[in-house]
Amino acid sequence: MQIIKNKPIFEILSAEQELKEQLLKIERAGRTCYQSVKQEITLETAQKFIKMLIQHGHESVIEHSSLIVKFPYVSRGFTHEMVRHRLCSFSQESTRYVDYAKDGLGPDLENFQLKCVVPPHLNETEMIDLGEGRKMSFAQMLEQEEKFYRALRKAGWLPQDARQVLPIATKSEIIVSANFRQWRHIFELRCGLASHWEIRSVLGELLLKMKEILPCLFEDFVLGGVDENGVKYFNKEKYDK
Ligand SMILES: Cc1cc2nc3c(=O)[nH]c(=O)nc-3n(C[C@H](O)[C@H](O)[C@H](O)COP(=O)(O)OP(=O)(O)OC[C@H]3O[C@@H](n4cnc5c(N)ncnc54)[C@H](O)[C@@H]3O)c2cc1C
Repeated sequence: MQIIKNKPIFEILSAEQELKEQLLKIERAGRTCYQSVKQEITLETAQKFIKMLIQHGHESVIEHSSLIVKFPYVSRGFTHEMVRHRLCSFSQESTRYVDYAKDGLGPDLENFQLKCVVPPHLNETEMIDLGEGRKMSFAQMLEQEEKFYRALRKAGWLPQDARQVLPIATKSEIIVSANFRQWRHIFELRCGLASHWEIRSVLGELLLKMKEILPCLFEDFVLGGVDENGVKYFNKEKYDK
């Protein structure tokens, strides 16, 4: 069993230039509403215009956009929460078609390692009392699941059947595509203190990056603090009109 640590947690697949060009298109679209067509639309005018749209709650205009992000090392728990967001498109690693006994080359039922995302704030080697004088660490529990998966595959079970024993911690990969308005909604729900540590920590880092690239769209999200495990949370502040 291999614990996922120090891996890139997101990759923005939309080019930065392309993201910024979309701001100009949003201003063009928004000016249709007010019939205030301008000769010259620049990055500067677009940023100001978009901030005004958000301040006035006119967010439908920012739907003329797209941001595509890959999350290469997240758990099935993360992806399950992510796919609840209905106004997105997803492409996710399949537990039916991906054989966890293969690692690039071919099936290796003896040596394959299940890759898992574990809570970083807990010690996966700490021995947990199972009762009846037995103890086992969280890492050992995951190793057991790896053994069960291996046994089922060796007994001829297909990945789509053997997957039933895989834990929620199993590493997955997902590509998420949505417009800027939906990303703002996702950040609001998933970067708040009430959300789960994994999705909050991954999306919190993405939010910080997006604040850097497109501040006019995300600057109203402010760091609220860190929770008891050191994971950041963000609040969406209301703009004064
Ligand atoms: C802290 C937290 C705890 C959670 N706990 C649970 C839980 O215990 N159990 C559980 O099942 N889920 C849980 N969820 C998931 C939650 O219920 C939502 O499914 C998820 O957050 C998607 O959000 P959403 O429905 O607002 O928006 P999205 O699906 O992202 O859609 C965006 C917006 O579009 C609109 N919209 C989309 N579809 C419709 C529709 N059919 N009709 C009308 N308007 C629509 C809504 O305004 C919606 O807010 C939790 C989420 C969070 C953040």
